[in-house]
Amino acid sequence: EVILQLDHVSKTYASGVLEVHALQDVSLRVARGEYVSIVGPSGSGKSTLMNIIGCLDVATAGAYLLGGTDVEQMNETQLAEVRNRQIGFVFQQFNLLPSLTALRNVELPLCYAGVRKDVRRQRARDALGRVGLADRVDHRPNELSGGQQQRVAVARALVGDPTLILADEPTGNLDSHSTADVLALLDELHASGRTIVLITHEPDVAHRAQRTIHVRDGRIFGDLEPAPGPVDG
Ligand code: ADP
Ligand code: ADP
Repeated sequence: EVILQLDHVSKTYASGVLEVHALQDVSLRVARGEYVSIVGPSGSGKSTLMNIIGCLDVATAGAYLLGGTDVEQMNETQLAEVRNRQIGFVFQQFNLLPSLTALRNVELPLCYAGVRKDVRRQRARDALGRVGLADRVDHRPNELSGGQQQRVAVARALVGDPTLILADEPTGNLDSHSTADVLALLDELHASGRTIVLITHEPDVAHRAQRTIHVRDGRIFGDLEPAPGPVDG
């Protein structure tokens, strides 16, 4: 089952009198349950691709289907709904609300989805438990280390049971220990059947995925699945 399908997607930004071709004729399919990384140097178009996949921006040309639905045909309200219900986001800067406790931050997507208070509290607690922060539910972001904040963000991404987890440089601000924690969580989410798209400029991080898509100058120039080999235990 194809979850995510881009067909001949291009994105052009107007920049003064110039046009910047941030993406050119990008076609890509990701199946349910795949773990895909997108790598490329700065300026290659990764963020543009992430914004389109995450329904935060729309392509200038081409088609994008998420879960079989044509994203181009949606209005802003429908796009917000898709973002909230189908996609769990993890960002480099964590993007937690500083005035809210970990529990409230994780609950937020469920508030927008209209889930009952007692149900969302319980789900948020469960999600924080899954990322190893059961004893930090009442801490605010500034009372947590960077690694802990990113684990809260991962809990927030998974609490609504999204189709797709979209992680944009999720380890970019973390030390090696916290990087390993967050990558292990993504591995777990993948093992439990979720589809993961990980955007990174770090080859070591990209290697965690089953499949690595290389982007350069707005084009995909390599889409590699690992060679079949012995399954490591
Ligand atoms: P990456 O995430 O790989 O660093 P981006 O997708 O941010 O790459 O950028 C791709 C190209 O598009 C770059 O040349 C960048 O300068 C340009 N670009 C990105 N966003 C905008 C924008 N809002 N307006 C004009 N140009 C942009
Ligand atoms: P790490 O070694 O993971 O980077 P830190 O040294 O930043 O963690 O924090 C160690 C512990 O102290 C963490 O469990 C965190 O919850 C707690 N902590 C960190 N900063 C604060 C703070 N400003 N107020 C309260 N507790 C904090």
